[in-house]
Amino acid sequence: MRIITTTCLKKCIPKTQYCRYNLLRRNFHSSPIKFINYDPYNTLGVDKSADPKQIKKAYYDLVKKFHPDVNKEKDAEKKFHKIQQSYEILKDKEKKAQFDQFGPNAFDENGNPNPYAGGSAGAGGAGNPFAGFSSGAGFGGAAGGNPFSGMGFDFEDLFKEAFTGGGRSKSQGRAHFVTEYVGDNVEVLKKIPFKDSIFGSKITINYKVVDSCVTCKGSGLKSGAKKQTCPTCHGSGQATHVMGGFHMSSTCPTCQGSGVTISKSDECNTCHGNGVQEIPKSTTVDIPPGISDGSRIRIPGAGDAPFVTKDEYNQLRNGDLIVRISVEKDPIFKRDKNDLVVTQDILMTTASLGGEIIVPTLDGQKIKLKIRPGVQNGRKLTIPEKGVPINRNLNNRGNLDVILNVKTLVAETPTQTALLEALADAFNDKNAKRNDSDWQLDVEDALKYDEMDEKDLHPSKLARIGKKLGKFFNLDNKKDEENK
Ligand SMILES: [Zn+2]
Ligand SMILES: [Zn+2]
Repeated sequence: MRIITTTCLKKCIPKTQYCRYNLLRRNFHSSPIKFINYDPYNTLGVDKSADPKQIKKAYYDLVKKFHPDVNKEKDAEKKFHKIQQSYEILKDKEKKAQFDQFGPNAFDENGNPNPYAGGSAGAGGAGNPFAGFSSGAGFGGAAGGNPFSGMGFDFEDLFKEAFTGGGRSKSQGRAHFVTEYVGDNVEVLKKIPFKDSIFGSKITINYKVVDSCVTCKGSGLKSGAKKQTCPTCHGSGQATHVMGGFHMSSTCPTCQGSGVTISKSDECNTCHGNGVQEIPKSTTVDIPPGISDGSRIRIPGAGDAPFVTKDEYNQLRNGDLIVRISVEKDPIFKRDKNDLVVTQDILMTTASLGGEIIVPTLDGQKIKLKIRPGVQNGRKLTIPEKGVPINRNLNNRGNLDVILNVKTLVAETPTQTALLEALADAFNDKNAKRNDSDWQLDVEDALKYDEMDEKDLHPSKLARIGKKLGKFFNLDNKKDEENK
């Protein structure tokens, strides 16, 4: 659950609990104008020549070390404040120049460059959330701008809360501001068939979320029961303590900032006063065409409800459902960016002689492809517009690449072996093994012939192939039988 009105200094992402740093609230009280009594360079431990990056780094390191919620040393709070102000001066070009020129007297103790500007900003404006909130000088529109802007958390909200928190009296009980809470995102992994990833589809997701309790409608109460003012913080939602002249507030540990508690006897029986329960849900999700493996689809508001009870002082918003898509592998097709790739086996003889093959597409068609004679292994043939839809558009698609995988002929019978040996002879393959000694190339014999036929095949070779194959297929015997 997140509280979205403030941002945490520590950037923690709390789960079903509050981040206590998120709720760091402070009240500033007016004080006579004093000048700063320190050197911001010394405070941050940087040189006068340090660049903005070095200054920022030094600042973050120190903030982590001296944050009053982390550092329990006696004057950590004072140091923390000093660090913040030093940074405000050094990160601002103008203020930095002013300090370089005039020294500490150029700033009041709140780090404002003009000690007489502003006064108490917004004082007297009825209904103004800052009314009565008098800081040293110059918040909001006053000269110098917001001295805390860009500090990593939203000071406007902090001040709003600081004021409203400080302004409500105990007799009033609850706070006057509404806090918005956001529940956790729920992530679900969903496997989809390869084909669905290319052409898109609708899928149903069944999952469980924390959602408003059905019995009490999220209030956490038995019907007719009421929440009690928190006995620890008396409804303020904050535990206050004074440190180094500042009123420091942190979230009340009893009510976790809500200012109210539910007594045991008033708790809803279904959710035991939590206002939420685990509920199975089902939702239909559109898978866009061309979605890639690992993509996430976000369904806003379909995630967890925040872990707080509903009342008029808060606004609750569910987190999102995030569906992470895992695309199943296909036995035939692979994806390469916007192209589909299919590997097609062809026999060595097809590769040598050329021919026609039939290739399947993912669309379910069968496409005839011509193979040119002598095509080599690994050759890519491209069928346009049968690939992956580009930008979810089914009318604009990548290619289907067909990679030819030439399969070597494997002789399984003596006939096939003999034919392959004849082939080796015909193609002058001197490396291939010959099983029959008749096939041994007789150089002496070959030299007797000096004429060659037009295909460059030595007549001796043709004669030998003919003789060998004739013998093998028993052609001579057949002739003999016919003659009988
Ligand atoms: Zn409390
Ligand atoms: Zn309930």
